[in-house]
Amino acid sequence: MTAPARTDAAACTEGSARTTAELIRAEEPVLAHNYHPLPVVVAAAEGAWVEDVEGRRHLDLLAGYSALNFGHRHPALIAAAHRQLDRLTLTSRAFHNDRLAEFAERLTALVGQDMMLPMNTGAEAVESGIKVARKWAYDVKGVPADRATIVVAADNFHGRTTTIVSFSTDETARTGFGPFTPGFRVVPYNDLAAMEAAIDATTAAVLIEPIQGEAGVLVPDDGYLRGVRELTRRTGCLLIADEIQSGLGRTGRTLAVDHEDVVPDVVLLGKALGGGIVPVSAVVGSREVLGVLKPGEHGSTFGGNPLAAAVGTAVVELLETGGFQRRAAEAGVVLRDGLTELVGRGVLGFRARGLWAGVDIDPALGTGREISERLLAEGVLVKDTHGSTIRLAPPLTITDDELRSALGALEKVLGR
Ligand SMILES: *Cc1c(COP(=O)(O)O)cnc(C)c1O
Repeated sequence: MTAPARTDAAACTEGSARTTAELIRAEEPVLAHNYHPLPVVVAAAEGAWVEDVEGRRHLDLLAGYSALNFGHRHPALIAAAHRQLDRLTLTSRAFHNDRLAEFAERLTALVGQDMMLPMNTGAEAVESGIKVARKWAYDVKGVPADRATIVVAADNFHGRTTTIVSFSTDETARTGFGPFTPGFRVVPYNDLAAMEAAIDATTAAVLIEPIQGEAGVLVPDDGYLRGVRELTRRTGCLLIADEIQSGLGRTGRTLAVDHEDVVPDVVLLGKALGGGIVPVSAVVGSREVLGVLKPGEHGSTFGGNPLAAAVGTAVVELLETGGFQRRAAEAGVVLRDGLTELVGRGVLGFRARGLWAGVDIDPALGTGREISERLLAEGVLVKDTHGSTIRLAPPLTITDDELRSALGALEKVLGR
């Protein structure tokens, strides 16, 4: 890491002055146990590297589940945040702020849509997309009141609110949280016939991830997304693409749907839109759809705040040149080649697009959790998804050499 980062790390370590074990123990009685983090306590970070409280450096191959697409503390994003912190941070939407127009203009231009609705977290963008689709169904399509349905895919991950877990197929995410919100139909992913059978006159929208991240980076067959687009157009319902994890450069294109030249009616963005600094999400879509909202019908105290807009605009600016998208595609080849070499040597198979991969490890070698812990010992941070699958999503700023060294660490832990 560079000198300034070391200064920050030193300050941080001084501030806490507790060891990894002490800090993990300290959390136990006072922090809800809804996560099971790997045993590393991060105190500072820059680019693709994080530094723990013991001063050990690790390559971050998770990148905050794609919230850190531009790496930790990208200088342009940090500078934009600092500038804005010194001017104005929050107005609420009771008043206009001088940053939101530019954010909306540039974000909509980046993804080829008309309008945007600013929110904060991914789950809020999904909730907002659902509300807008229902409103569109009643106001524009003419679905009878309270009868609108939304078709979703099995093994989806769209967030954690009560409505969103209502259509999850992951029992851990659902059990104990009912009663559930009605109005959703679940069909198998990557199955156009099943989707067509689920669509009827009440269908407001199809809501899908163009690549299912949490499910293990499941890339659908070529033509599936185009087929969904054609089907939704023909049957008169909306296509909502949840690009919260797959979007903003991760797959080598601005959006994952760009690989099939598909333009959804609504795109949900989050994670990397906040530059790893503040939560920023957005529903971006056509005027016909987002135009259904009138004053008072939806809102958010923090949505579209000037700090979020400044950081979001700086994120869009990074993506406007196409450089990060190209870099993700290039480095994606290094990732794919490295993983291909490991197939049959501890890796059963993998799915990858751009700088994003789901890697199925031979269960005889350990669970995904155990492999993640062994990689941590080698200075590489990853996270398991289900069973023996690990997910790799490095910052798009990672160098080929850093990527190769991470793949070398994977080879080493699989060889044990
Ligand atoms: C992370 C994620 C969400 C939820 O985002 P939060 O910011 O955690 O609420 C929704 N959809 C997808 C595809 C995601 O990966």
